Amino acid sequence: MIRSVKFNDNTIEYELQRKRVKNINLRVKSDGSVVVSANNRVSAQYIDSFVESKGEFILKALNGFDREAATPQYSSGEFNELIISLFEKTYNDFVQFNIERPKLKFRKMKSRWGSCNYVDCVITLSTNLIYCSEEQIYYVIVHEFSHLLVHNHSKDFYAIVEQFCPDYKRIRKEMNKIKY
Ligand SMILES: [Zn+2]
Repeated sequence: MIRSVKFNDNTIEYELQRKRVKNINLRVKSDGSVVVSANNRVSAQYIDSFVESKGEFILKALNGFDREAATPQYSSGEFNELIISLFEKTYNDFVQFNIERPKLKFRKMKSRWGSCNYVDCVITLSTNLIYCSEEQIYYVIVHEFSHLLVHNHSKDFYAIVEQFCPDYKRIRKEMNKIKY
């Protein structure tokens, strides 16, 4: 059940879960949702006022997540250098597959980190990668290089990704949480 309370000038929305718990438990998740669990004997009104009493803490936590996610991690010079070095490293790793050297392009992308045009052999990377860690950028580059070999997201595809990025599942999950 989704409920909302007013705190100062803000509305705090939270998901109320009824569980067999002793106390009222409140969690602010990194995806920006607020989850409260309480047992059936605690009235919704009481829980509302509990959430309200934690208003300052909740807003601070939510702002913290946003700010952290939206900060560029590099100067533009550093960013270009990092991309080029990771691109070269990945190209050298993929030479064994007899690939043509892909051209590298940058673009503002709304919902993707990169794309691969395997017909023209062009890899396009999102300028939003500036918000990502080196490990995350490397994963995206490996992902797009792997599309030069396998054009879909099949098991075969991820088997190649995994050779270079064994931890790709965790990295992918973390990247889904980044807001920009
Ligand atoms: Zn893909």
